[in-house]
Parts: sequence; structure tokens; C-alpha cells
Amino acid sequence: VNRKENYYWDMYQQIYEDINSFGRNENGGMDRLAFSEEDNKAHDYLARLATEVGFLVKQDGAANLWITAKGSDESLPPIYVGSHLDTVPDGGRFDGTLGVLTAFHAMLLLQQYAPKRSVTLLVFRCEESSRFSCATIGSKALAGILHGDRLKQYQDNDNISLFEAMENAGGKPALLPEGLTEERKLLEKGFGFVELHIEQGPVLETSHTAIGIVEAIAAPYRIKVQVNGMAAHSGACPMHHRADALTGAAEMILAVERLGRQYAEQSIVATVGNCVVPNGAINIVPGSVEFPVDIRGIDGTLLKQVAGEIIQQLKEIGEKRGLTVQLQLLSAEEPVKLSSKIADLMEQTCREIGVSSVRMNSGAGQDTMYMAQILDAGICFVPCIKGISHNRLENVTEETMLDGLEFMTELLRRSCCRC
Ligand SMILES: [Zn+2]
Repeated sequence: VNRKENYYWDMYQQIYEDINSFGRNENGGMDRLAFSEEDNKAHDYLARLATEVGFLVKQDGAANLWITAKGSDESLPPIYVGSHLDTVPDGGRFDGTLGVLTAFHAMLLLQQYAPKRSVTLLVFRCEESSRFSCATIGSKALAGILHGDRLKQYQDNDNISLFEAMENAGGKPALLPEGLTEERKLLEKGFGFVELHIEQGPVLETSHTAIGIVEAIAAPYRIKVQVNGMAAHSGACPMHHRADALTGAAEMILAVERLGRQYAEQSIVATVGNCVVPNGAINIVPGSVEFPVDIRGIDGTLLKQVAGEIIQQLKEIGEKRGLTVQLQLLSAEEPVKLSSKIADLMEQTCREIGVSSVRMNSGAGQDTMYMAQILDAGICFVPCIKGISHNRLENVTEETMLDGLEFMTELLRRSCCRC
């Protein structure tokens, strides 16, 4: 009860409720897709609230929200905190939103300690790839790697482009990347960037750990595989005359899993998340199949090695079965090592407030990846129940929310008041 009172729990819950009133569906899931009306309303709500409590508010050229609580000493470089408010379709209430609201509330609580250093909360746009098949847009724009014109290529199911959607939310996509040069220069001079996010996996809950301090973010290596055999009549074509693309693909998918498991201890994961049989039917021996392979790891060299072994296996299986295998590289990103300065700050904070922490890696990409290209950046995870995420059943305990609040408030106090 005391901890709740100390952290103004009721007020925090009210803000949380208000934000999640934007986009909540009848099943209790969140439909707050990037740059949707609901997403824009959530941004507006937080901007209004921030203005009311005396914080400075601005929107940048990618429509990211900047909320600043001024410290008393202008000579100190500000600390940045942040996450995102957009969700996947029928998503949860905590992915992104927990990080934004924990940071916002911690900024409010910090004011009683007369902070010297300023804090700026960044609410990134379009972290989720669900609507435009393109993720972490706001942070990529700040990192200067997003060209405005290219945003016209990404369209949602209603043929609205990412360009249009960003413009509609008050952004200036036509001016990217130069339009964010000033913001990038500000960030470069910052003290550091910290994100808090739910883990979206089971490690912390299983080990009863309050805070996971991420040291590296895994990068995806993605290939599109097309397997071609020969379509045939399922009754008339004898078993030994077949070039069945689907049974070949099945063997290939198992090989992907086998290699992923073989390197699991070195933090490799390998997944086939989809499999399409064009023109598939009950009475046709499948003539072609398409599936994507997503391989992730935190060691770039090992990642490429495993990808090479997987590709080799796919080709061998194809050859053995008389199938042709076409491979297309979709992406080959480099894993990101995060700042040890920020990791140490997070670890000291945990020690100070007496909560458990563990160093870990992240298998999922986050906005922090792109912040790390600009300044010292780090991300910490809090446990989510059963590791469930990107699902309306996503949940965290009150204990976790309070740990997060205490952690973020103390982290800001350490970095803004004791300097
Ligand atoms: Zn997220």
C-alpha cells in the first residue's frame, strides 16, 4: 500500500486507462495501429497532459512526440527516455505503452527532487510493422536513415502510404532525412537514452527477475525461399514420379529448426513463420511453395555462418528431391551492442532500490537499436505474464508496474539530481 501511495498509483492508473481508451476493441484488445486516428489521438492526449503539467512539448518531422521536463542547469546534457504507443492489431496494453507511461510518470515524480538535468521523453512513431510492413519508423528517421520519398512505397491494406499517414499526423516526410538534422544533433549531445519495455518472452518471469538489462539486440537475417517442383494429379501421378514442392519444403523447414536448435546456446533462433502453396488444392501434388526464413543472433559472424549452413541444407534437400530452390535475401542486419555506460547505470539503479536484475540479450528489435546509432543507449525489460505479447492477453503484474516505476524514477533521480 505504501509503495502505491509513494508512486501516486491511482494517478498513474488513470493516465494508463485514458491512453488505452484510444483503440480498445470489444474483446479488450488494442487496435492502435501506427498513424491511425486512435494512435494520433493517444499522442494528442499525452501532449495535452504534458502541457498541462508544465512540460515542454513538440512534434518532430516524423511526428514523434518530444516531451521535456526542464532541469535547472542548462549546461548539463539532457537524458532521453522513450518507447512507442502504437500496437499490433488486437494487441496488448503494455507493449510500448508501459515504457512511455512509466517514463512520463517518473518525470512527474522527479519534479519533487529539483532535477538539475533535463529529461526528454520521446514517443516514437510506427514501431510496429503491422500496418505498413515497416518497423521502427520514428527512430530510424531520427537516425537519419529514412528517405522521405521511399515512404511512398509502403502502403497499408487501404492503399494509404506511410508518407501520407505521417503527413496526416503532422509530420513532414518530404523533408526526410534532412528535416531531422537539428533533432539528431541535439540527441548526439545527450547524456544517453533509456527505454523500458516488456520482455515479450518468458526468461524474466521464469527466473523471478524484476529487470532485464539488455546488452545486445539480435539482428534478423531473412531469406525468402521458393521451392519449385512439378504440379501433378494427386490420383494419377505415382509416388516415385513426383516432385512435390510441399514435402520438400516440410523437410527444409525441419532443417531450419534443427540448425536453430544446434546453435541455440549461442543465442541463435531460426524460424519459418509462414508457408504458402500457390494454387494448392486437395487433389494437386504441390508444384511450388514459398516460405520465409528468419534467423537471429547477437554475433554477426555466427549469424552469417548459420545462415550459410541453412542455405546449404535447403539446396541439398532440393537437389535430393529434384526440386529447384530459389533464394532471395530480404535483409541482413547487424546485431547492435548497447552502451555499457547505460547498462551500468541501470544495474546500479536496481541495486539501489533492491530489485533483482540480470544481463541479457534481446531477440526482438526495438527503437533503442536506432537510438544507439546516435548516442549511448540502453533498454531494460520487465517480465510479462507467461511471456505473452502481440496478443490481447498480454499482461503484467501490479508488482512489475511498481518495480518499473520505482526503477525509472530512481534512474532519473540518479542521473538528474546527483550531478
Ligand atoms: Zn514494443
